[in-house]
Amino acid sequence: MRCYCCSSKSFDECCEPFIKGDKHPSSAEQLMRSRFSAYATAHYQYILETYTKEKQQGLSVEDLAQSAQGATWFALKVHPTLAASSVDSLVGNLVSSTEDSSIDSTVHADAKVEAVTNAEPISKTNLKSISKPITKPITKPNNAIVEFTAYYFENKSMYQLHETSNFSVEDGKWRYHDGVLHDDCGKIKYGRNLPCVCGSNKKFKQCCATKSR
Ligand SMILES: [Zn+2]
Ligand SMILES: [Zn+2]
Repeated sequence: MRCYCCSSKSFDECCEPFIKGDKHPSSAEQLMRSRFSAYATAHYQYILETYTKEKQQGLSVEDLAQSAQGATWFALKVHPTLAASSVDSLVGNLVSSTEDSSIDSTVHADAKVEAVTNAEPISKTNLKSISKPITKPITKPNNAIVEFTAYYFENKSMYQLHETSNFSVEDGKWRYHDGVLHDDCGKIKYGRNLPCVCGSNKKFKQCCATKSR
């Protein structure tokens, strides 16, 4: 099945290895996606562990489970950031045209950043061989911002949570710190014949609307 975070990958190739602890997210966006999938699958231990240490203080798995009770998280949209879209023009050839553009630009921006980082030793070699000075090394940032909208049902109503979140690296791992909610959070009406918010290209009534309860 398609991953809960609405990426183009399956759950076992996307968020599941992070939630199981087999792999660690290599970007803030991956962490955010995996936390959404953890909410969707009620893995509250993972939610707790992926907060920054400061925010973990005073939180418990029980608190998290309680606050999420009654909500069915069913779709996620990651909004393109300025940073991501500027890198995107470089790596556009990696983008699959079938996916939702807002999701693609950020996902592929990650791929792009990785590609650039991986390519560095090669470019160094090339530069050396033509005896030009080496350009400044690419360093990975320790803080990042991701803007997203998450959709959920509660008591048969549809809600959206639109947040811009702050992430930091602690002990080499991405962690969620906090976020700012946008004014459009809350109950929403979404047309049953509109394309589903999950990006499936199906009508809402034939897709995620069936998960309402
Ligand atoms: Zn995922
Ligand atoms: Zn859907």
